[in-house]
Amino acid sequence: MTTPEVILEEQGLRDGLQTLQTLIPTHKKLEWIDRLGAAGVRRIQVASFVHPRLVPQMADAEAIFQRLRKRGGVVYSALVLNQKGVERAIAAGVEHLAISISASDTHSQKNTRMTLEEAKADFRQNVRLARAHGIRIRAGIQCAFGCRYEGIIPDERVLDLIKHHLNAGADEIALADSTGMAHPVQVRRLVSHALELCGAVPLALHLHNTENKGLANLFAAYEVGVRQFDTAFGGLGGCPFIPGATGNIATEDTVHFFRQMDVETGIDLEQVATISREVEAMTNAHLSGALYKLPARMRVS
Ligand code: ZN
Repeated sequence: MTTPEVILEEQGLRDGLQTLQTLIPTHKKLEWIDRLGAAGVRRIQVASFVHPRLVPQMADAEAIFQRLRKRGGVVYSALVLNQKGVERAIAAGVEHLAISISASDTHSQKNTRMTLEEAKADFRQNVRLARAHGIRIRAGIQCAFGCRYEGIIPDERVLDLIKHHLNAGADEIALADSTGMAHPVQVRRLVSHALELCGAVPLALHLHNTENKGLANLFAAYEVGVRQFDTAFGGLGGCPFIPGATGNIATEDTVHFFRQMDVETGIDLEQVATISREVEAMTNAHLSGALYKLPARMRVS
């Protein structure tokens, strides 16, 4: 297999499925995880250790990690929001955790009932605990490009949070456009500064397509040097605490977009598309992705 020039982290199992009412059985999730690995996906966020009452779709996080058949070269990550989540992830043998805070005070309080300052202190404690158990940390910043309650987030605040995360021992940084408010000029400006700060620490972007600018923003970030992006099969996804939030950028659309530009993701579009079609059939969900609906013979790349 050729080495991918761009790494896509699949978020469909977590950011995607958590938005659906239909509960997906654990064995089905495990099958999809396995098929994503077979399709060439090298990073998969497979679960989150959050309260099962708040997010019933993620109640089987322990079972997923227990029964996961790991493939060599694939990173299986989980998301946590608090210390209880870190403790559960340690017990489940998770090796790679995503821990994030919101750049918006209002979103932070709605999502976690903590102010930004409280969330920062809590974050440092959780990162310390996870790292003490040898877990690699993807340190995220939600609402990095804008908040529905607070409007545009000043670049300085995001850059300060990146420094904060690097000092806390982050193995990589992820900037999330949780609201889909970002635009390419803003992405180019903020991400250029972020890359300078990060140096050798990888920087990933988590883009939502709420305002249909996902791929435009992805391309702006790619042009200034980002090589890691989060996507979800079919374009599933959304945060329950953000008004009007819709899906991530679709994995299939992103693979196709890069392929047309001769940039290798190492991912077989059709194998991912079959999962999106299954999800659609099982849940009656409306998926926002474009390419999974298009017959393979009609795709030109
Ligand atoms: Zn998201």
